[in-house]
Parts: sequence; C-alpha cells; structure tokens
Amino acid sequence: MKSLWNESEARKYDTDLALRVYTSRLLGRNKDLVMHGGGNTSVKLETKNIFGETESLLYVKGSGWDLETIEEAGFAPVRMDHLLRLAELPTLSDPEMVNELKTHMTNAAVPTPSVETILHAILPFKYVDHTHADAIVTITNTEDGEARIREIYGERVVVIPYIMPGFDLARLCNEIFSREAHAGTEGMVLLNHGIFTFGETARESYERMIQLVDEAESYLQDKQAWKLPVMHAEPQSIELSEIAALRQAVSEVAGRPMILNCDDANDKLAFAQHEDIARISQQGPATPDHVIRTKRLPMLGRDVSGFQREYQAYFDRNAPLAKDEKQILDQAPRVILDNKLGLVSVGKSMKDASIINDIYSHTINIIRRGERLGGYRALPEKDIFDVEYWDLEQAKLKKAGADPIFSGEVALVTGCVSGIGRACVNALLKRGAAVIGLDIDINVETMLDSVAFLGLQCDLTNTEQVMQVLERGVKHFGGVDILILNAGIFPESERVAELSDSTWRKVMSINLDANLVLLRTLYPILKMAPAGGRVAVIGSKNVPAPGPGAAAYSVSKAALNQLARVLALEWGEDNIRINSLHPNGVFDTALWTEEILQQRARHYGISVDEYKRNNLLHTEVRSCDVAELACELCGPLFSRTTGAQIAVDGGNDRVV
Ligand code: ZN
Repeated sequence: MKSLWNESEARKYDTDLALRVYTSRLLGRNKDLVMHGGGNTSVKLETKNIFGETESLLYVKGSGWDLETIEEAGFAPVRMDHLLRLAELPTLSDPEMVNELKTHMTNAAVPTPSVETILHAILPFKYVDHTHADAIVTITNTEDGEARIREIYGERVVVIPYIMPGFDLARLCNEIFSREAHAGTEGMVLLNHGIFTFGETARESYERMIQLVDEAESYLQDKQAWKLPVMHAEPQSIELSEIAALRQAVSEVAGRPMILNCDDANDKLAFAQHEDIARISQQGPATPDHVIRTKRLPMLGRDVSGFQREYQAYFDRNAPLAKDEKQILDQAPRVILDNKLGLVSVGKSMKDASIINDIYSHTINIIRRGERLGGYRALPEKDIFDVEYWDLEQAKLKKAGADPIFSGEVALVTGCVSGIGRACVNALLKRGAAVIGLDIDINVETMLDSVAFLGLQCDLTNTEQVMQVLERGVKHFGGVDILILNAGIFPESERVAELSDSTWRKVMSINLDANLVLLRTLYPILKMAPAGGRVAVIGSKNVPAPGPGAAAYSVSKAALNQLARVLALEWGEDNIRINSLHPNGVFDTALWTEEILQQRARHYGISVDEYKRNNLLHTEVRSCDVAELACELCGPLFSRTTGAQIAVDGGNDRVV
C-alpha cells in the first residue's frame, strides 16, 4: 500500500479543514481501506463563535458522506468540551448520544456526526483517521489475531478488544488509551473492527495509516495469505423460475418486494461452491460495520430447490427475537451463497444490493485470507445480534421516509431507447423500480447511467437472443414484476391490394409474435412477483379506429389486444393483471420527423401545432403522458383492474 500524498496537489488545500478534506479523499480512493461510507476522519480546530469567543471544535465526518468525495460541508462541527465531558459518563444510550451530538453542533445545516465521534474526541491529536482496512480485519478475525497484531506492531499500537461501535466503545478506548499510550504510539487497533491513526498534521496521520496497514499487508504476504490463488468454479445451469422462487421467498420474509442480484463471476461462484462453505461462511460477517449494512447472513450454499424450506426454518428460528415488524424486515438475509447462483445480494433497491455485493466481495477475500492464515474466526453470534439491533440503527430506520411505490420491484420495457419506451423507463425509475430495457439499438446499453437500469441489446424476433437477455436480466435483478410491451414498427402506408407478404410478416413478427414469446416465457416469473405480476400493453388508436393503408399495423395491434384479453382471462387466478392503453397522435417519438409532421399538416390544410392538437381536448399527447398512464396501470390505482383498454389520445371522435 502506497501513500497517495502529492505535495503540489496538497498545496491547493490551504486551511486545516481543507487538508482534512484532501487526506480523507486519499483514504477514500483506496478500496482496501474504506468503502461505502466505512471509515471516518476528523480534525480539531479553534474557531471564533458569534460572540467573538474562541471555541474548540471537532470537525468529524457526517453520516451519509463518502470519504472519497467528501467536502468541507461533510464535516460536522461538535463542541469539544462537551464531547470530553460525555466521554466521562458511566453510561449513555445510543439515542441519548445522538441527541447530545446533534444538540452540540455549531452548524444546523450539516449531517449527523459519525457514531464514532466521541472516540475521535478522546484521542489527543489534531488529526484522527479511522478505517476498516481489509488487512487489519483479516488478521484480527483469526484465532490468535491479537497475538499477531502485537507481533507486527509491538508497542507502537494500543490494542482494544472487540466491543460494538457506540458510546461503550468510546469509553473503553478512552480508558485503555490513556493508560497505555506513550510517546511512541502511532495507532490504535480495534479487534474485529479496524484501525485508528493520528498526528499533528493531516499528512502525518494519513501516512501513519498507510504505513501501519502496509505492514499488515506485508505480514499477510509473508504468510502467503494476501495474494489469493484463482479458484476453480463449475458453472451450473439454472431455471429462471428458480431464481424468481428464491426472490419470492426472500420477499415474503421481508414483507415487501426485494431486489435480488446474482453474481456468478468465477471467484464468487467458486467461493459458494467451496467444500467447506458452511463452516467458513456461517460465522458471521467480518466487521461490525459490515454487519450493520448486511444484517444477518445465513449462508445457504445449497440448491435453490430446498431453499424455501430451509429459509422458513431459519426465519422461524430467528423471528421470535425480533421486537416489531421493522425488525422482522431485518430478518431477511442480505447475502445468500448458492452453489448455482454464486453470491446473491438482497436489497430494497439495486443500489442497496450492489453495496452489499461490494462489501461481501471484500468479505470473501477476508475469509479466504483468514483461512490461509490458520483459520478465519469472526465475532460470536451474540455480538453480531447486538450490533444488528442496536438503537442507532433503529433510529435510522424510523427516520427513513416512505419508499417509492415500485421500490424493490423489477420492470421490463421493450423498445426503450426512444419515445414512449424511454419515457416508460424514466417513469418507472422515478417510482423506484429497477428496469431491464430491451432494444435493437445498441445505444440501449449506454443510454442511462444508473445501477437501477440494465440496458440490453436484443432483436425481439430472435428467440435465442430473447432467452439470453431474459436470463441476464433475471439474474441481475431477481425477477420481473412489471412488463411493458412497447416495441413495435409502423410500416409505410400501403393499401391491402398492394400489401406484400414480407411487410405483413415483418410487422406481425415484431408487433405480435415477439410479444407472445415474451409473455409466454415470462409467465412463470410474473406469477411469482411478490406483489403480483402486471403487464401494460402499448396498443394504438388503430385498434378501435383503424385507418386505410395501415392494415398490417392495425391487424397486428388488434391481435395483440385480443391476446391481452385472453391472458386477462387465463392469468387472473395467478394474480397477473394485464391492461392495454391506446395512444394516438404521440409525435415526440422516433416514428415522427419534423418533415413528416409538416407533410401531414399540409395534407389536412392546418398548421403543425394544430395537427398535433387535433383531438377533442385540443391538447398535445406526449410520450411522458403515455408512460405515466402505463405506470399507473401497473400501480395500486388499478389494482382491481384487468383486461381493460384505456385511450390516451386527447379524445378521438371515432373512438368515443
Ligand atoms: Zn469503525
């Protein structure tokens, strides 16, 4: 591990707080040191208050900020004298502690200070850096971890036994540090947790961190426990419905739909297939920080077929410990290891699931290194449970607002690069859904930069390709709850007398046949949607009111409409709703160019604007209007509706 300190870069940060920002970002750039808000930093400063009096403040990282991108506004200023008095109290509950921190800040606009604030305050140095470095966590999560730490550092660090983060930990550190620290002390190692370093300058504190962690990495390297050999994984085939069944079971325990991300990359799958997986993975997560984020981790490492039963047994064993419904939600595991699926991460959103994937990927390395060092050994079960349900976490849960209506759900949209399809993707993401977008246009893969969106190129008339992208989509998010059938083509106007077989067949294959394949394939998946499956069919005004020259298009849409009606009859008992909407005159789509619009307007002897509003309400119907309705059709407003057809056309005299 190398110091990233750069003298000329550092010169741009000209105050003590600015330098705190600089070295915090340097720590954040190293993923073996910190990730996803793990770790925190502080600086003690003298400032003038509003009365002109000098005040000593601790600027400590606020919750919700990542070290890598932190700014000055991410540090919460808390009065030092108050913090030092708090540290002397015999006890302080977590909610009391949070209250004391929040009411003794000098800036109301900054986030809540870190839970480790008092710990930062009691260390008598200007700068304090704290990380959950992989190497330190690895070494301390072994049988003789403490002895190894003393072997590496001798008297240079103070060693603190494991205790969960919060006031008690700060108090214990205060006691041990004031007793054991001396002029040569460079850091403080918290067993099963991480490491603190400190110094009079930002650079000193930061470089001590790098130095100490580097020594731990070198130690592991010497023991052949740092660089890990490639493991052999045996890829397994799996039915998509098995994944959906797993997600259904997890969602049932959670009491809400959950995203389920399957990562079968070689190292994850090989780990899940490890012959000793039950022993090495069941011991609990690597650090308390990880526990907070990943909650309980029952490592299953077995076929999905037996999963539901095992899962229920696991739930029954733990549920009585939960005090209320919120805690029951926490009973749902966030990580599942399966010998077919690899590393499965569960979250209320894809963002949550991907954070869990990252954390557990590190945990896998920590476990493997610990095993090579002589045996990975994590915290005992009881301590983990304590961490899971500590008051602070509960306070955080209570504070969280209501989730968006489609949170934890997965939608699939066809023809999503432009027009109505793209508007549907945006409307679904806005409502909290994870979205699989399909399009023949390669731009689908780069159209949005969001972890909640997976764009896959696919020719919908090629069944083999469709199967491939569905497999990728279902593995990525765990299932499909909402299907929006939007892709379609509108060929040039042709009277039936001149209509070619090839045009007819092409229109049918895209507008009708491809949808049949999707519906048929996704049926077992939609059936297992935790909140019920929903299908919205983007139809056309041509269904109730066809036009001359559009036989192929009108017939294909009418046939699709009839297919939807039959499915409403067949799938009602599976709690799958299917409704159609019939847009007309939506001109902000790829089908319409300014040139065609002018042509059509001229044909009717009206302006383009009049042409666009040529309906009973004289209003323009935009892609986003259609998309909003499509989403609503899949939402609670239409939860009692199936087999319906709704016009979204500004009112059409031939339809009304
Ligand atoms: Zn920590």
